[in-house]
Amino acid sequence: VYNFSAGPACLPEWVLNKASQEMLDAHSSGMSVMEMSHRSSEFENILNTAKDRLRRLMDIPEDYEILFLQGGASLQFSMVPMNLLKHSADIINTGQWTKKAIAEHKKLGDTHVVASSAEDNFTYIPKIKQEDLSPDSDYVYICENNTIYGTKYKTLPPHDGKLLVADMSSCILSEPVDVSQYDLIFAGAQKNIGPAGVTLVIIRKDLLTENEALPSMLNYKTYADNNSMYNTPPTYGIYVCGLVFEWLEEQIGGLEAMEKINHQKAALLYDYIDQSTLYSNPVAKEDRSYMNVPFVTGDKDLDAKFVKEAKEAGFVNIKGHRSVGGMRASIYNAMPVEGVEALVDFMKKFESENTK
Ligand code: PLP
Repeated sequence: VYNFSAGPACLPEWVLNKASQEMLDAHSSGMSVMEMSHRSSEFENILNTAKDRLRRLMDIPEDYEILFLQGGASLQFSMVPMNLLKHSADIINTGQWTKKAIAEHKKLGDTHVVASSAEDNFTYIPKIKQEDLSPDSDYVYICENNTIYGTKYKTLPPHDGKLLVADMSSCILSEPVDVSQYDLIFAGAQKNIGPAGVTLVIIRKDLLTENEALPSMLNYKTYADNNSMYNTPPTYGIYVCGLVFEWLEEQIGGLEAMEKINHQKAALLYDYIDQSTLYSNPVAKEDRSYMNVPFVTGDKDLDAKFVKEAKEAGFVNIKGHRSVGGMRASIYNAMPVEGVEALVDFMKKFESENTK
């Protein structure tokens, strides 16, 4: 099947094959990575190799720390304010995932929603000016790619004199980014990084501070001081993330190459949808995501028929989120171009069979 799930999503076949080859005897240890002590030199080597590869892939400057956490991207909705909110936070509301971040922030400190596209069902990215920001805010918080609504920031909001925090759960590793523009990046692994259960945090080292009031497990510094092994980390998940980084580096040729493939896949879908008389995509063109492509026929019954027939034809998990309806094709890094081509062929066939 071609799996268009928004996450957990398909992983590169190369990664799955390598993981299965190494399942019973990883790194000549005579055991599975699942069975290794996280204190062993074999596992330490797996973790450090993964970090080194990620640093090269994303060109992460040395003054940033790479951390592997648990708790999903959702725990970051609380950990970010716990660690960074001193006066107030400015959040741009672009959908479900910022709404959740706003709700958690409000429990912990002064939170300003400085812009929102809620009135138009989040079909665009609101553009803000420096003067829209609160005078006393510590940081500007964005969700860079909105998984549910299919929108993406193509340029970052102004944030002079403030930190920039980005939820990159559904776009990380899809393209090169200038990490130095950000102060904290986080992402749940289950889309472009690896299996669910690992959360990646990339944070500027000078933001790692002692804070006696914070529980140890909620302080980024604890993870940084212990190479992400203060407690038992999600060892197998980190290992698979390392394989994904290896795939990106050695099979794909890095993030510029990945970006080209991703743009090609997204263009196949958007170009077809835009000239179709049956399907439409509600998102403002300049804000369209390269990873999540929602589309509707405008008729709920026909949407349901599409989802059913698509599944029978081997295109699974293509139903849209309930807040948007219709369909959504999530075309993360691991979705091959052939998968998108096959989907477009199916969409054409369905269109010809269901329009007069
Ligand atoms: N942020 C974004 C952009 C997401 O797409 C998701 C989940 O799909 C989350 C946060 C929540 O992630 P988790 O389930 O890992 O907490």
